[in-house]
This record gives sequence, C-alpha cells and structure tokens, in this order.
Amino acid sequence: MSVVDRQEWDVVVVGAGGAGLRAAIEARERGARTAVICKSLFGKAHTVMAEGGIAAAMANANEHDSWQVHFRDTMRGGKFLNQWRMAELHAQEAPQRVWELETWGALFDRTKDGRISQRNFGGHEYPRLAHVGDRTGLELIRTLQQKIVSLQQQDHRETGDYESRLKVFQECTVTRVLKDGSRVSGVFAYERESGRFFVLEAPSVVIATGGIGKSFKVTSNSWEYTGDGHALALLAGAPLLNMEFVQFHPTGMVWPPSVKGILVTESVRGDGGVLRNSEGKRFMFDYVPDVFKEKYAESEEEGDRWYEDPDHNRRPPELLPRDEVARAINSEVKAGRGSPHGGVFLDVSTRMPADVIKRRLPSMYHQFKELADVDITAEAMEVGPTCHYVMGGIAVDSDSAAARGVPGLYAAGEVAGGMHGSNRLGGNSLSDLLVFGRRAGLHAAEYAASLAFERPAVDDDQVDSAAAEALRPFSAEGPAPGEEDGRPPENPYTLHQELQQAMNDLVGIIRREAEMAQALEKLADLRVRARRAGVEGHRQFNPGWHLALDLRNMLLVSECVARAALERTESRGGHTREDHPAMERTWRNINLLCRLTDPTGGLAATDPVRGQIALTRETTDPIRADLLALFDKEELVKYLAEEELYE
Ligand code: FAD
Repeated sequence: MSVVDRQEWDVVVVGAGGAGLRAAIEARERGARTAVICKSLFGKAHTVMAEGGIAAAMANANEHDSWQVHFRDTMRGGKFLNQWRMAELHAQEAPQRVWELETWGALFDRTKDGRISQRNFGGHEYPRLAHVGDRTGLELIRTLQQKIVSLQQQDHRETGDYESRLKVFQECTVTRVLKDGSRVSGVFAYERESGRFFVLEAPSVVIATGGIGKSFKVTSNSWEYTGDGHALALLAGAPLLNMEFVQFHPTGMVWPPSVKGILVTESVRGDGGVLRNSEGKRFMFDYVPDVFKEKYAESEEEGDRWYEDPDHNRRPPELLPRDEVARAINSEVKAGRGSPHGGVFLDVSTRMPADVIKRRLPSMYHQFKELADVDITAEAMEVGPTCHYVMGGIAVDSDSAAARGVPGLYAAGEVAGGMHGSNRLGGNSLSDLLVFGRRAGLHAAEYAASLAFERPAVDDDQVDSAAAEALRPFSAEGPAPGEEDGRPPENPYTLHQELQQAMNDLVGIIRREAEMAQALEKLADLRVRARRAGVEGHRQFNPGWHLALDLRNMLLVSECVARAALERTESRGGHTREDHPAMERTWRNINLLCRLTDPTGGLAATDPVRGQIALTRETTDPIRADLLALFDKEELVKYLAEEELYE
C-alpha cells in the first residue's frame, strides 16, 4: 500500500505557461478548486521567451482586418490541414482574449491615437500582432500571474487561506496521469529539489506542458521542452495527431556555437529586416511558391513600398510563412552562398536608424551584443534554421479541448495538436494559448462539477508502479529485466545527446526515407539502452535523475515524429520530404494518429518499454461550406482533393 502524500482538487493543470495559467484562471473562476503544477519556477515558463507578439484581428493598424481574414491566413499557413473549427474559434476569440489581458493589467505598445499597436508578421495579411516591444511573452505571463495572485487574495478574504481554491506547485514534475478505468483520477508527481513523491487527486487534468524541441540538437527551446505532456497523454491512452509537423524557425543564431539555435525574432523581418546571401542578393524573391505568388512582391522596390503603403503594394517575400523561409535559407547554404558560420545574413542596420532598432528590438540588440559581440545597428546578423515549435500534439475536441478517448483529460497550448495544421504562423501561439487555455479550463471545471458525487478513485497499485518507475534509474546498475547481457549502466546525458543528434540529422528540416528508417533503428536502440540509464546518489538535488526521467518522454515523442514523417509521402508545411517534394492534394484531408499499443495489438498500453507506437490514418471532417466560401475557388483548387471540391 502506497504511503505517498495525497491532496484532493477538482482540476489539476500541468504546466504554468500561458495555456496553463489561462486554464487555471478559468477553472477557478468557474468554481473549481484548482491546482497548477510546473517543472520550473512559477513565472519562468517557456511563454516568457515569446518575443514578437499575439496575433488577433483587432483591426487597430488596418481597418480591413477581421476574424475571417485571420482565419484565412491561418488555414493558408497550415496548408489547409488545420482542424478548421479550432482555427475558426481562434480567429473569432483572440481579440477578446487580448482585450481581457488589458483589463487585467497588461501594458501593450500603443498606436499614435492610443490603441493597442499591431505589427506585421509572416503570413498575416495585415499588421496583427499586439506586442510589448520584443518582450510580449513576459508581459503575458506577468499579467496572468498577477491575475492569479488577485484571485488568491480574494480567496484569502473569504476563507482565510490564499491557497484554498488556487494553488501553485512549482518545481515539481508530473510523471504519470492516473486513471480509474478509462477516466482520469489524478497525477503522480515529484518535487525536483527534494525528490519527494506526491499525488494530486482530481477528476479533471489539463495538460499544458508545451513542446518537444529538446529532442533536436539545434533548437530555440529551453530545457523544459522534453515532450512530457505528449508522452503523459500517450501513456494515458490518448492519441497524438500529425506529429510529423515540426516547425524549424528560419532565423536562429548560428554563432558562437554555445548559443546556436537561440531565436532571432520574426519581428526583425516584420519591421523591415531583409535576408541576403554571401553575394549580397535578397534571395527570397527566388523562393516564392506558386500558391503564394499573387500575394507577394515581385521586386525589391515593391516589397519596400509595402511597408509604407500596404494597400497598394504586395508584401516582401521575407514575410512568407516560416516553413518557406527556412527551406530557402537551407537551400542557399547548401548551394554554397551562406555566411561564414553556415547561415545567411539578416540585416536591419541598413533599413532603420539605430535608435529605432534599439527601441523596437531591444532584446535582439542586447542578445547579439552580449552573446555574439555583434552590433545589429551597424552590421548584419548571421542566422539559420532552428527547431522551434511542434504543430503535432494531443488530439483534442475543437470546442472543449478534451483529449480524445480519455474522459477528464484536456490539453491546451503547444502540447495540443490540430490548430496550426502543418505550419504555425508567428503570433498564433500566444493567441492559441489564451483561447484554448480558457476553453480547457472551462470544460475541465464543468466536467469535474458533473462528477461531484462520483469522483474517480486513485488506484494504489498505479501509484506504487509510478513510484517504482521513477526510482528505477537508481537501481540500473546491471542489465534490465529480460536483458541479461551484463552491460554497464548508461549515462542519461550521453543518451540525450545521441537522441538530439539523431533527430537533428535524420528527421530534421529536409527528410529522406532511408534516413528516417535509420532514425527509427537508432531510437529503438536508444530505447533499449535507456532501460539501463543509471544515476548515482539520491533523490535530492539530482539533475542526472531528472534527465533519466525525461528520456522516456523524449524517446516516445521522437518515435512518433519519425514514424509519422516516414508515413506522410508528401511535403507540406513543416514536413519536407526530399523524395516527395510536392504537396499532394490527396493528403490534404489525412490525419496521422499515433497511439501506444501493447505488443499484442491492444490499445492503451501504459508500458513505455514494451509498448509500441502504432500509426493510423484518419480522414478529416470536411471544411464547413461557409468557411470555404471565404476563399476564391482558384485558391481552393490548389489545396483540396478532387472529391472535396466536388462536394
Ligand atoms: P509553456 O509556456 O512552455 O509552459 C509549459 C509549462 O509546462 C511550464 O510551466 C513547464 O514547467 C511545465 N511542464 C512541462 N513538463 C512538465 C511536467 N512533466 N510536469 C510539470 N510541469 C511541466 N509564439 C507567439 O505566438 N508569438 C511569439 O512572439 C513567440 N515567440 C517565441 C520566442 C521564442 C524564443 C520561443 C521559444 C517561442 C516563441 N513562441 C511565440 C512560441 C510560444 O512562446 C510557445 O509556443 C508558447 O509559449 C507555449 O506555451 P504553453 O503554455 O503551451 O507552454
């Protein structure tokens, strides 16, 4: 019988980034006693790093903007693979979520007449990103935290306890979602500092753990992004959707090596920055694909005029969606026209006065000055693609954010799949977090209330096996059960590095069948070796132990990415196949779902060692007619399959 500490809540939110905090606020406001649990310090989630802004069709900078135009841009950016109902809700509700933030104290940059300022970003027809310089995520998290504190103060006035209805457990990692039959019953977690185990019992669990970027060597993502939420959902029996779609942001730092991958915000291009190769050529004009030809400038002069007069000129191709720009940079470097350190040049110094650069891009100015000794007001930056965002994620219901097949499980933010299709537009993540964070919190609270008199029970055996699983790295001194070869324990850090290198080299920005097959072999080998991932010492202050536990998640998620990428024999958005370079209309309405199965083929296996990733195809729901009517027929012909057009 387990002696692990337990607490009862109505809703547990795993993750305290934008999605998690917005979900927690909503759940608490709907009357649910809500716990938030996060791996890092409260306020230090990945969302803090977001720079450019929040996309919302508020029409402050161009009166022609509307939710319909935002919906269109999002679908085009995602190459029509988006879960269209999510894209619709997102475009409709994003402005309300931004205005709401303002009422909670967010201080956005303003236009001359005092409205929230909005900036240009790739793939957005109009200036649409509400921003705070290039530190928008920081303001977003600060505001949500402040709202949480104000709710806690309200609770203190009523109950005498700040944490009676809303409590944050920081620096704690969830390793398992617990279940009562098919329903969620809580989570198993440990304190990172002390190693103490505990259980939060709850009928509703919202997963808001962000992305998977740490499975790739060159990434803009921080240490937290080890795909935990994706793996937690898989292990709980929920499928992952379209995991092949990983976004490589076109502009990460390439030099010095210690900072390779750190993001250079798209605002640099949105505010006028241009890309040049080693010959000084603005090469993006050579890379405008047919589907976007009518929307982008054909000459530098027209592109430059657009910044001043967007109604009578077309936008420069530096502002194409990210997947297009990343591939173009990759091709230039491959053709030998790259910068000295293997990137291309991104220049604002010849485009704006120094004081404007420092005012509009303060973080970029300091980032390059301090990390690379480059003054971006006087010289060009060197940039190249970096793994940035995962479009694939937990398969959810569009309206309620409920994870498929597991009652009580919800997902929002980067960990949820579907909203962005095959490629996310910049700025659409922060708005996604707020729109679907709120929806997840709302529905999780309602579901918990509906079970007030029949709450699911936590199963002691599951708690014991979760504890045993977490302790396993301390006893990995010899061969794992069933593997009597006597090999020594493996170093978790080395396994992380090998995994990151393999994903980077074999399932990266340009993919080939043979390399992905090789990646799957490597992952299978790493999975076996990870069973021997051993650590010394004890549970207190033990970073090696955390790495060993993260490995399970990284391996599961990486395998989903590699399997789905191998299966999709076309190129679309964040998935580029050298052996299948065209976007195929026949793939437009096909989703790929990954599940963890047991070796005999049964679903909902919970064993990460012996379970296998099984892939199934699923046809998407037809796009609603009134939404299709927002596009010209000639444009739809480029994307939709023959039978969809006919219907
Ligand atoms: P996060 O903010 O990452 O929060 C995840 C939370 O989950 C964290 O609290 C973490 O501690 C917790 N967690 C993870 N695993 C566990 C576990 N096992 N147990 C407990 N807790 C766990 N998007 C935009 O729209 N506009 C931008 O301008 C923009 N700029 C960006 C700049 C950078 C440098 C980067 C990297 C991304 C940027 N993005 C931007 C993308 C956007 O920031 C992210 O997609 C978004 O913040 C993800 O938010 P989230 O709430 O889903 O997750």
